[in-house]
Amino acid sequence: MKITADLDLCQGHAVCQAEAPEFFDVPSRGTVEVLNRHPEPEAREAVERAVRYCPTQALMITEDD
Ligand code: SF4
Repeated sequence: MKITADLDLCQGHAVCQAEAPEFFDVPSRGTVEVLNRHPEPEAREAVERAVRYCPTQALMITEDD
């Protein structure tokens, strides 16, 4: 799996960081930084929560080929 973030949509709410801090870092002013774009399968649940609860739908999970 691969995480992608649309920085045009991100408004810095940091919900993603609250759900999965090992993968998302959000500065107090600014947009999300994805710390690791290729999470291990064990992390899928946390990353999926971050994607689901992002208020602007800025995050996406795609599957690797
Ligand atoms: S929750 Fe969504 S809008 Fe908020 S910082 Fe994360 S990606 Fe950006």
